[in-house]
Amino acid sequence: MTAEIIAVGSELLGAQRLDTNSLFLAEQLQGLGIGLQRKTVVGDSEQGIAAAIGEALERADLVIVSGGLGPTADDLTREGAARALGRSLSREDRILETIERRFRDRGLRMPEINVRQAMILEGAELLANSQGSAPGQWLRAGERVLILLPGVPVELQAIFAEECRPRLEKIAPRGVILTRVLKIAGLFESQVDERAAPIYQKFHNPTTTILASPGEIQLHLTAAGAGEAEAREALNELARRLELALGDHIFSDDGRTMEEVVGAYLTVRAKTVAVAESCTGGLLAERLTRVPGSSRYFLGGIVAYSNEVKTRWLDVPAPVLETAGAVSAEAARILAESVRRHFGADFGLGITGIAGPSGATPEKPVGLVFLALAEEGRAAEVVEKRYPGGRERVRLQASQTALDMLRRRVK
Ligand code: ATP
Ligand code: MG
Repeated sequence: MTAEIIAVGSELLGAQRLDTNSLFLAEQLQGLGIGLQRKTVVGDSEQGIAAAIGEALERADLVIVSGGLGPTADDLTREGAARALGRSLSREDRILETIERRFRDRGLRMPEINVRQAMILEGAELLANSQGSAPGQWLRAGERVLILLPGVPVELQAIFAEECRPRLEKIAPRGVILTRVLKIAGLFESQVDERAAPIYQKFHNPTTTILASPGEIQLHLTAAGAGEAEAREALNELARRLELALGDHIFSDDGRTMEEVVGAYLTVRAKTVAVAESCTGGLLAERLTRVPGSSRYFLGGIVAYSNEVKTRWLDVPAPVLETAGAVSAEAARILAESVRRHFGADFGLGITGIAGPSGATPEKPVGLVFLALAEEGRAAEVVEKRYPGGRERVRLQASQTALDMLRRRVK
């Protein structure tokens, strides 16, 4: 069974409002094993709404419209749907009474415009709204189903849960859709795709999409099956092959973040870490401490932004700062080793780099970052990176690399 969602509202085309109803509906449809194939956002225009509904009904078995059922002149979903289906609208007195009563109960007189909310499409089944005045409407158009829901999120969610879900469970073939997210570090999007595409392109089920954010690439695998076991087996099969191709670049396949994965390893191994950060300004410590229970393994850190702090608190000798510079492999190594020693940690992480936009020189461009991992009894590991992007992206990528270095060491 395939579905489309249409979000109605000119405000959703502007810069201020996000269509969150479709996120809720997408999750619900997935839970029902109904494949969402398209989402549309359309402004408050009767003709636009009619066209969107008409087209969606040509493609999908189920079309859910959110919004535009209110009483005001810009609420045009009823008219648009009537036009798309070629059906009439008529006033349902029972609904009108309910709406009037809602106003009366609050000591108010119902404004005349609210009569519009009692207008029902010919052949509609009403979906009771426990949270507001306008009911939803359920329409059969041949084999297809059209559902109209109010835009107010609490109302839409209540009607969906109370009225739509039970009906959809009866008509949707009982399929299951499962997703799995493989999170990858240490490779760019094109490098991931080079390895992964030849594998996932051979599969029609699961389908795979690739998402990139600074320092992290995600492969989203979505599998459909008649039952949970079948969908899971399809996911396992593809995930197994991708894991072979991407090796330990994959740091998570169960939704956990990089800092959660690192925290779990440190906890299991009963190891601790301390950090010395320059260009990330505390971001690394912030990420480590996002995880509840991080006090078990995170001892603390120093944001060593100025050279004086690097020298005075983290023993980076002034001559090193003068010759190699604050952004150098040598400085990163000493930051990591010193913070580890001073804090009495098992591991020390050091980061120094040029986040930009200023501070670059011809030899040291924006994005140049040195990262070091210190551990007692072995030479520090030092990595030089040249990250693309501006200040925010450089900082995010640097914190991700540092966490990934630690993950590889403790895993
Ligand atoms: P109302 O009876 O309140 O007029 P309605 O069905 O006409 O309900 P809209 O007027 O379209 O719905 O929207 C009502 C409220 O719900 C607005 O604040 C709007 O921003 C919000 N809303 C509408 N559509 C969405 C959506 N797709 N995602 C999130 N919020 C939405
Ligand atoms: Mg409205």
